[in-house]
Amino acid sequence: MNAPSSLLNAFPALVDPYGRHVSYLRVSVTDRCDFRCVYCMAENMTFLPKQDLLTLEELDRLCSAFVAKGVRKLRITGGEPLVRRDIMTLFRGLSRHLDSGALEELTLTTNGSQLAKFAGDLAACGVKRINVSLDTLDEAKFRQITRWGDLGKVLDGIKAAQAAGMAVKINAVALKGVNEDEVERLVEWAHGEGMDITFIEVMPLGDIEPERLDQYWPLTQLRARLIDRFTLDEIDYRTGGPARYARVRETGGRIGFITPLTHNFCESCNRVRITCTGTLYMCLGQEDAADLRSPLRASADDQLLSAAIDEAIGRKPKGHDFIYERGRPTVAVGRHMSVTGG
Ligand code: SAM
Ligand code: SF4
Repeated sequence: MNAPSSLLNAFPALVDPYGRHVSYLRVSVTDRCDFRCVYCMAENMTFLPKQDLLTLEELDRLCSAFVAKGVRKLRITGGEPLVRRDIMTLFRGLSRHLDSGALEELTLTTNGSQLAKFAGDLAACGVKRINVSLDTLDEAKFRQITRWGDLGKVLDGIKAAQAAGMAVKINAVALKGVNEDEVERLVEWAHGEGMDITFIEVMPLGDIEPERLDQYWPLTQLRARLIDRFTLDEIDYRTGGPARYARVRETGGRIGFITPLTHNFCESCNRVRITCTGTLYMCLGQEDAADLRSPLRASADDQLLSAAIDEAIGRKPKGHDFIYERGRPTVAVGRHMSVTGG
């Protein structure tokens, strides 16, 4: 069922038409979530019928096909990945690629709500680093942003993850008029707890409420604010993602900045994304996609699947189409972040 390690070199590595080596796969395992963050979902979301979702066995097969083609880093995301039933079965299965050395890193992006429960199991599966999304340390604001979230549970989850030996990175979305006045505190808190923190600009994904675009706060402004308090030294540190990092002299910790809209990082893009229905997106900012569920289900071996992956990577576009004019996005992509997993 799964690609044996003897297949490791059976397929050529994934190189797109622009010479970029695709080595990083992000996999959304569910579109569901126990939060309703205002920039990500509408309060009354309609989720996919369960039968449209890939089974955990199919997700394993799909990930393993990419690993056999040279993907070295897998990030499990969602929706909220830890609300998918029996998700640890997938982690346990994929950890064999860590054991064999085919996979360098198995990671997770989570809202942290279920982390207290799963931290030990994740660490046992070889997960060494996780990203936890947290935009505020103020309980009322946390509730306002996530609508359904409980800050205390997330903080407990972070502690549990650290206690289990995993490195935690905080991801915070920069939200104008919401966490603007808190960014220094977030940095001090994260660094005080031994965590890096990355700030992300709101992206125009998903057709949610129009006022969401009013939350756009360019990281150039966030950075200017931080410079009033801290001394930031540019560093070369990269995690294989689009973040640019600086080290804060006062705290010794790192801050990442992800500016997909104001800074074009496409030339070094090494990643593709799969939705929980098996649709492969070659670029977060483009609609073009490839259906991998049909070839996956059409036969028990991976020949059709492999050919479909190659064909899709051959269509990976040079860059994305986000355009900002006068501080507002003019082109929006119609799918929610919870579909492609960010
Ligand atoms: N539920 C998990 C979480 O929140 O970490 C994983 C999925 S979530 C879609 C992944 C990341 O996307 C989170 O850090 C979230 O803050 C970010 N995100 C969601 N919608 C966004 C948007 N419109 N613009 C920028 N980041 C967004
Ligand atoms: Fe859920 Fe993550 Fe989206 Fe928030 S950002 S609604 S936690 S998927």
